[in-house]
Amino acid sequence: MSKRPIKLNVFLHEDLKGINEDLLHQDYFDWLADTVSRISGRTMDVNLIQPSDALTLSSFNYKSDNIERLMDKFQDALLTHLGNQDRTTYDASIDLYLLLTRDDINKTTLGVAQQPGVMGIASITSKLTASHEVGHMLNAAHEDSDENVSTYYGTYKSIMYKTARKSAFTFSKKNEENIRNYLNQYP
Ligand SMILES: [Zn+2]
Repeated sequence: MSKRPIKLNVFLHEDLKGINEDLLHQDYFDWLADTVSRISGRTMDVNLIQPSDALTLSSFNYKSDNIERLMDKFQDALLTHLGNQDRTTYDASIDLYLLLTRDDINKTTLGVAQQPGVMGIASITSKLTASHEVGHMLNAAHEDSDENVSTYYGTYKSIMYKTARKSAFTFSKKNEENIRNYLNQYP
C-alpha cells in the first residue's frame, strides 16, 4: 500500500482577497510539494481554503510582537474551525495547517511554525517563507541548514537558514533526512 499523502491546508487570510491563486500555487507551493514528495516518497496535496470557508482563521489578527501568545491564539482559532468539521479523518500528524497572510507578523518575523507540528503562519512577502515554515512542521531545523548550496545562479543558503532573505529553493541534505525520518513514523 502506498503511503498516505500529506495534506497541506492553506488558509487564505482575508487580506489576500483577490490574489491570483494560480500564481500562489506556482510561486509558493508547487516547488515545495514536488520537493517533499521526492524526499519522502508520498504526495503532498496543497489545498487553498477561501476566506469565506474559514472565517475564524481568515479574520485572525496575526500581527504581534509576542510570538508565543500568537501561536496559542492561533491554535485556539484552528481548533474552533476544526471543531465545526467532521473530524473522523483528522490526522494531526500529516494534515498541516498554514495561515497565509499578506503582511509579516512583525518587523523581523515573516512566519512562525511548530517544530515539528501541524500549525504555522507565513506571509507572502518572501516566496520562501511558506516553504520554510512547512519545513519546520516536518522537523527541519535552522541548525541543520546549509550555507553553501550550489545552484545555476551561484551559491546560496539553503531554505531553513534562519536569516536568509534570499535562499536557494532547496533543503540541505541534513534537513532532507530530518523530514524523511519524521514522516517515516507515519503510515
Ligand atoms: Zn525558521
